[in-house]
Amino acid sequence: MSADAEFFDEGARVAVLTTQPLDRMLTYRAPEGGCWQGAFVEVPLGPRKVMGVVWGKGETGFDAAKLRAVSRVLDVAPMRREMAEFLTRVGDYTLTPLHQMLRLATRAPGLTDPPSMRKVYRLGHIRPERMTEARARVIEVMESYGGLAFTLGELAEAAGVSSSVVKGLVKLGAVAEEESPRDLPYPRLDASAPGKPLAEDQAAAAAALCAGLRAGTYGTTLLRGVTGSGKTEVYMEAVAECLAMGRQALVLLPEIALTAEFLKRVEARFGARPAEWHSGVTMTERRRLWRMAGEGEAPLVVGARSALYLPFRDLGLIVVDEEHDQSYKQEDGVLYSARDMAVLRASINAARVVLATATPSLETWANAEAGKYDRLDLVARFGPAVLPEMRAIDMRVEDLPGNRWVSPTLQAHIHDRMGKQEQSLLFLNRRGYAPVTICRACGHQIGCDHCDARMVEHRFLKRLVCHQCGESKPMPETCPSCEAEGKLAPVGPGVERLAEEVREIFPEARVAVLSSDLFASARALKAQIELIAGGGADIIIGTQMVAKGHNFPLLTLVGVIDADLGLQGSDLRAAEKTFQLIRQVAGRAGRVDTPGLALLQTFQPEHPVIRAILSGNEEGFWRAEAAERQAAGVPPYGRLAGIVISASTVEAAFDLGNALARADAPLRRVGAQVFGPAPAPIARIRGRHRVRLLVKADKGVALQAALRAWIGQFTPKGDTRLSVDIDPQSFY
Ligand code: ADP
Ligand code: ZN
Repeated sequence: MSADAEFFDEGARVAVLTTQPLDRMLTYRAPEGGCWQGAFVEVPLGPRKVMGVVWGKGETGFDAAKLRAVSRVLDVAPMRREMAEFLTRVGDYTLTPLHQMLRLATRAPGLTDPPSMRKVYRLGHIRPERMTEARARVIEVMESYGGLAFTLGELAEAAGVSSSVVKGLVKLGAVAEEESPRDLPYPRLDASAPGKPLAEDQAAAAAALCAGLRAGTYGTTLLRGVTGSGKTEVYMEAVAECLAMGRQALVLLPEIALTAEFLKRVEARFGARPAEWHSGVTMTERRRLWRMAGEGEAPLVVGARSALYLPFRDLGLIVVDEEHDQSYKQEDGVLYSARDMAVLRASINAARVVLATATPSLETWANAEAGKYDRLDLVARFGPAVLPEMRAIDMRVEDLPGNRWVSPTLQAHIHDRMGKQEQSLLFLNRRGYAPVTICRACGHQIGCDHCDARMVEHRFLKRLVCHQCGESKPMPETCPSCEAEGKLAPVGPGVERLAEEVREIFPEARVAVLSSDLFASARALKAQIELIAGGGADIIIGTQMVAKGHNFPLLTLVGVIDADLGLQGSDLRAAEKTFQLIRQVAGRAGRVDTPGLALLQTFQPEHPVIRAILSGNEEGFWRAEAAERQAAGVPPYGRLAGIVISASTVEAAFDLGNALARADAPLRRVGAQVFGPAPAPIARIRGRHRVRLLVKADKGVALQAALRAWIGQFTPKGDTRLSVDIDPQSFY
């Protein structure tokens, strides 16, 4: 229990926050034996029992005689004050009701299961005097399994007897009944094990991070360095320091596929595996980790963004690896940025944050510029001699038919690498075979029935797939619009189509495609990655998942098929995202002793972003991009909130949108402006019509309070839904 938590004697009024969609706390009487503030409890609600947390003192208004009592206190570590504050503040920031925050923080099954201990049964030393057939079977089963412990259910089933037979044997002393913890602690990590001898800049960076940890205060550091500069090696030093101090550490990774390699490195260094938290972890393991995190028995956790809501007992360090990665923004349910919330959590916990990346987000870059974050740069790339050389291929002068995407220049370079037994990577950020299917008779483009989106042909799956809602259907024989037969044709390339072209040009090459939809499981994907890393492919074709941290030692050439792809559209981060992605992908080329080459196919080689990428002047790019955003008053120099209204009819969505736009007094009071309503870029998803508004405010403005007052004037009617996205990352 936290030092400042309050204790409520039996019968005292307590306010309980439940995960039920209620807009208030419920008041109960404290149970027999009393309870601590923060205790996880089960309370009666109507005919049901629901889980909740004792949040504080209850209201005094009610008739005491009518108050129901807390049913029981759960056998898990109480919620700490820091956690309650964290949930409250994330809820305030993202305009999320507290009950929904509590749900996010208790996403592990079986937390209400009463005992954290369970009874197990082992063979005793005494033989029963009166041996029945059933008793003999129980003893036989136990003997055949050696000294193993059984639960009552397991034992009764294995022996084919009722549980009373086992209980009878316990009374006679023939079977021993013991208490055993349900969820075991995670193995200790040996923090004193030395890491690799560090290069000078690595050592300086590690020392700075460790000094910060020892200070025991909050602080955030941008750790910048190209792929392979040793960022992981450096933050491992900070993890070791944190563990040595007896505090817990959390490492967030943007993708499950990266955890396997990281786990191996932790095991090699600290002698045991850390705890894992992501969608691929079993329910039992989730519950174990949730409990152990609260008891301080999970020293190091590696996970996806939601690991941030684990009830750590004493979190001292949060590493956000690849901090610029867009997957850190949760795009449904509670809309939050795990990177930003990591900083918030650390500031409440007197913990340290390390934001590691080769290409920082502009937000992080600007925070470092402003001195809010420290910044450490790993200058020298560890091992490899040089960064890849970058060149543009001017597609305006290449001789290439319209349905081909690998230019003669790029082909020549791939050919050259194959002769040297080196790998080439072709990067195209488009899954599937072709993004558009068009009817050559009438011009109709096949769209999704439920969304305002075109269906993407996936030949591998032999289907058309909507990338918005996931709906898929077989490729029709005739045009759905004019019914012409055999006239449907693919337009534009996806990775599958690119692979087809490459196989045609290089029939002798081993071609591997890396795209998230081609693998049934994380294991299959991992196998493919290992195959490539081991030299099992000559040409790799991949979507943006290849940009993320996999090491391919034989890779010396990267070809970006369409460098202009990300530059289109109205997204305010289009330039930043393109810059990051292409820099990251290019960084895959060349390691150790073989210098790499990155070739960018582009129709606009003079575009400022393309020029910045080619020149390698990263700081110049950030400064120019920052100046532009500053002039426009957009993030990180201004604030944005996206409002999406969805409804089953366009009218209903616009009715609420227009009403909001008219009633903007609460926004104007703080100088914020509202734009819209307008149909969202994807105006229909899963059959629901979508309308957007955008709120823009100055940086210092108390935007959330104004938004609350503004939106609070209306209650969405019928099936109309409204969601608020603070600091939106995507604008679909
Ligand atoms: P990053 O996280 O910046 O991509 P890593 O920490 O993964 O870089 O380092 C890249 C590779 O170089 C890894 O295989 C790592 O073990 C190795 N490495 C980094 N620093 C050192 C060092 N000081 N001594 C030996 N190997 C190192
Ligand atoms: Zn759809």
